[in-house]
Amino acid sequence: MTNKETLTRIMNQMFVGMLEDYENIKKALEKQIPKNPLENEQMWAVCPNCGGSISKDNVQEHIINGGTTFCEHCGQALKWSDEE
Ligand SMILES: [Zn+2]
Repeated sequence: MTNKETLTRIMNQMFVGMLEDYENIKKALEKQIPKNPLENEQMWAVCPNCGGSISKDNVQEHIINGGTTFCEHCGQALKWSDEE
């Protein structure tokens, strides 16, 4: 392998790594923006990000402490009112 090929390979690997980091950071930041939970057929709260069902404990935590809670499956921030 020539020096140029080695360099190209290193650059490609760096670029792929950076893209992955970028996607991960983007996903992590998007989860920080609170979203309203969705309701499924059983009228139970569902995470808008991963579709996981949100436990009663999570809802109770919100009722007791107010504010934002987080999906226990993916960490998506959840808001429980329509206030912006
Ligand atoms: Zn989730």
